[in-house]
Amino acid sequence: MENNVFPKKLIIETLRRMKTEISKQKGYLTELEAKIGDSDHGINLDRGFSEVESELPSLENKCIGEILKKVGLILMSKVGGAAGALYGTAFLFAGKELEGKESLNKDDILQAFIKALEGIKSRGGAVLGDKTMIDTLEPVVKYLEDNSGYVETREGWVRITGVAWQGMESTRDLVAKKGRASYLGERSRGHLDPGAVSCYFLIKAMGEGKD
Ligand code: ADP
Ligand code: MG
Repeated sequence: MENNVFPKKLIIETLRRMKTEISKQKGYLTELEAKIGDSDHGINLDRGFSEVESELPSLENKCIGEILKKVGLILMSKVGGAAGALYGTAFLFAGKELEGKESLNKDDILQAFIKALEGIKSRGGAVLGDKTMIDTLEPVVKYLEDNSGYVETREGWVRITGVAWQGMESTRDLVAKKGRASYLGERSRGHLDPGAVSCYFLIKAMGEGKD
């Protein structure tokens, strides 16, 4: 199993699970964004991941890198808003790192996470503490740098998901420094950041396929 933590089949299943999770959380994400934004985050992401799901059958013969790059392009063109560009860039950067791969080991997954974070940061210019999806993703990347083996087991993913959850929760007390919520200044405090929440659900969906 060591070299085969995420075979391609599981990556495709994971993308389907992400879609299912986002559809399930669409209303909740809308509700969250109604407090500090324009309420489109859940609807936009659901549209994007629905398109990803419908394209998956045509991608099955491609390598993991190509699949993730295509996912990135679909999210960029179908999601819109800040999140479309940011999640799109994350998948694109991760895909570039995984060129030619038919399965992923723990190092591949760590590198893909590092690149995804790099992509979001270079695209949006936000840093940890700005009350964005980075507050969920960056602690997970740091955690994986020390514990990459956790991606190999279900119990490991429970821990990784716990780190994502803490990161998401940390946004509640922060003042938004980037994106639409930043227009509210101090009034953004006291609410979870919708992008940090969607990022948590995507990471949770990733771990749920491991047995
Ligand atoms: P908008 O409605 O402002 O276009 P979305 O609804 O698509 O944005 O996504 C909102 C989420 O995007 C926010 O909750 C936040 O997590 C994330 N976000 C916004 N700007 C940035 C940025 N510059 N860097 C990282 N994440 C950002
Ligand atoms: Mg929005």
